[in-house]
Amino acid sequence: MSPVYYTVKVQEKIHYPRLDSFVGNTPLVSLRRVAAHISDRVQVLAKAEWFNPGGSVKDRPASNIICTAVAHGDLGTGKRLLDSTSGNMGIAYATYGAVHGIPVTLTIPANASPERIAIMRALGAEVILTDLLEGTDGAAYQAHQMLEAAPELYWYANQYDNPANWEAHYYSTGPEIWQQTSSRVTHFVAGVGTSGTLTGTGRFLKEQNPAIELAAVQPESPLHGLEGLKDLKTAVQPGIYDPELQDKVWYVSTEDAYEMVGRLAQEEGLFVGVSAGAAAVAAIRVAEALDEGTVVTVFPDAGYKYLSIEELWNRKVK
Ligand code: PMP
Repeated sequence: MSPVYYTVKVQEKIHYPRLDSFVGNTPLVSLRRVAAHISDRVQVLAKAEWFNPGGSVKDRPASNIICTAVAHGDLGTGKRLLDSTSGNMGIAYATYGAVHGIPVTLTIPANASPERIAIMRALGAEVILTDLLEGTDGAAYQAHQMLEAAPELYWYANQYDNPANWEAHYYSTGPEIWQQTSSRVTHFVAGVGTSGTLTGTGRFLKEQNPAIELAAVQPESPLHGLEGLKDLKTAVQPGIYDPELQDKVWYVSTEDAYEMVGRLAQEEGLFVGVSAGAAAVAAIRVAEALDEGTVVTVFPDAGYKYLSIEELWNRKVK
């Protein structure tokens, strides 16, 4: 009888990519029914940013800010990442902070949706609520104060002034749109919070084709429900904001954005957040004035974090 040989194989681990390598490359979806009245030669397209692992467009700047800080050794000293946020950036910091083993402290206005605050805490972030009447400027002020009081404890990520914010879009969102539209994009429309999306994507697209028009989306009034957007007429201007870059500003009311959110859900199957509704309203206005063209916008996140806003979902479209 021949001997039986058992070979014990030590399997080498296959390398699977880390979570942050799945950031970006989001789908570009076409709006059909809500843009059905525009010319046949005009297309309205939107980047579906909730496909990012952390659920929003802010995965791009947050992962880039963290990777850049790690590369520069800013976080290697055991410091906590500190920043102010209106929600999505905080969720993204908490996500990629967990990936890199970096503790995260966030200041956020107390009126941010409870879902957002719960998600940040679930991801292990320390969340400090600031005066709701002071808005995102108050949250930024609080972060400054905390940094001044304990500079040895924190590394201040400062999304409003950090170039790694807009650069994330310059190196990802812009090239993706250029490639996904086969260089056909003629207009780019984006809501402005920190302005990272508009500045980074806009700079890249204008470099490819200076004729591409850039439109900023702004709330119609300072007191608005367009979570994630900043009223730049009354708020502190972000350091990375370049007012010379945009060709036009569209002012959208909360009411119009809410109505569009309902239509996108019920007519397109796109369950998106409020700022996506505002972006769609502006993109359609741009498209209505064209004979031909390709209008691209960004839908920053999905609707899950806004379920507690009853007046948003209580309307019937059909
Ligand atoms: N919409 C939502 C829901 C957001 O969270 C943000 C980020 N604050 C924006 C739009 C605006 O993006 P940006 O900061 O790149 O201007």
